[in-house]
Amino acid sequence: MHFASDNSGPIHPEVLATLAEANQGYEMAYGADTLMNEVRDRIRGIFEAPGAAVYLVATGTAANALALATLSKPWETVFCSPVAHIHEDECNAPEFYTGAKLTLVPGGDKMTPNALRGAIEGEETRGVHGPQRGPVSITQVTERGSVYSLDELQALCGVAKEFNLPVHMDGARFANALVALNCSPAQMTWKAGVDAVSFGGTKNGLMGVEAVVFFDESKAWEFELRRKRGAHLFSKHRYLSAQFAAYLRDDLWLRSARMANANCARLADGLRAVGADFLYEPQANMIFASFPRRVHRNLHRAGAVYHLWGSALEGTDEEEMLACRLVCDWSITEDQIDQFLALL
Ligand SMILES: *Cc1c(COP(=O)(O)O)cnc(C)c1O
Repeated sequence: MHFASDNSGPIHPEVLATLAEANQGYEMAYGADTLMNEVRDRIRGIFEAPGAAVYLVATGTAANALALATLSKPWETVFCSPVAHIHEDECNAPEFYTGAKLTLVPGGDKMTPNALRGAIEGEETRGVHGPQRGPVSITQVTERGSVYSLDELQALCGVAKEFNLPVHMDGARFANALVALNCSPAQMTWKAGVDAVSFGGTKNGLMGVEAVVFFDESKAWEFELRRKRGAHLFSKHRYLSAQFAAYLRDDLWLRSARMANANCARLADGLRAVGADFLYEPQANMIFASFPRRVHRNLHRAGAVYHLWGSALEGTDEEEMLACRLVCDWSITEDQIDQFLALL
C-alpha cells in the first residue's frame, strides 16, 4: 500500500527488457545512437510535429530548467503558479540555469487567465530597472492533481501570446493528463499554444528519463549547448533512449497512465464512500484528502505509506483533521487499493 509518490514504484518490465536488449555491442555516444532516432521519430509522430526538436535528460528538474533557460533571457521573469514544482521543488535550478527570476501568479493551484494577465502587466513597468517579461510555465497535471482543460490551456496560452511570450509545459505527468482529457498530444500542446514541453517518463514507469520537446526547431542548437554546458548530456545515451523507446512502443506510456488514473479513481470512489474530504477534486493519479489523526496513525501502523501534507502525525488531538497526499503509479494494483480502503 504505497502511495507516497509515483516515483516510488518499480521500472516497468517492458522498459527493463528494452534496456537489456540495448545492452549489446557498441553504439555511438552522446545522443547519436540509433534508438534515439526511433525516439525522435516517434515523438514527432505522436505530437504531429515533424520538425520538432527532441532531447532526453535524466531528471524533470533538468528538463524544466534547461527548457526554460532556452526560452528566456537572464533579465526576464518566468510566470508560474505559487505551487509550481519549478518554484517549490527544484532548489532554484530554474533560476540557476535561466539566470532569470520567477514571478508567482497570485492564486492557488491552477493559474487563471485574469491572474496571469495581471501578473504580466505588473512586470516591465520599470524600464531598464525592472525584470522583463519572459516565459509562462504551466504544469499539466498540476502539483495538486488537477488537469487544465483544453479551453483553459488555450486561454492561458492566449494571454501569453498577447504579450508575445513563449509557453513551457511541465509535463512530469503528461501521460496522466492526456488520458484524463482523452485528447491528442498536439491538442494539449502546440495546438493550444505551448512552445516547449517537459515530457515526463520517470513517474510513469521509466528508470529516469524525461524528454524535452521544442516545436520551434530554431531552439534546438541552443538547447544542445545548454544541456552539455549544464552537464546533462549523457555519454552512454543509448540507455536513456532505450527507456523512452520502450515507453512509446505499443503505447506503454498510455497504458501505464490509464492504469494509474483508473486505480486512483477507484481509490477516490472508496474515499468518497466513507465521506472523506478532498482538498482538490482528483482528476488524474493524485488525491489530496484529510482524515482525523487517529485514522492516519492506524493506517501507518498497518503499513500504508504516504505523505502527510503540511502537517505532522505527532500531536495529541486524535480528531484533528490532517491532510495527506495519495499518489497512484502504474504498478499499484486494485488489491492494494481495496486493502487500503478496507483498513480505512
Ligand atoms: C516530479 C516532478 C518533476 C520532476 O522532478 P525530478 O525530481 O527533478 O525528476 C517536475 N515537475 C513536477 C510537477 C513533478 O511532479
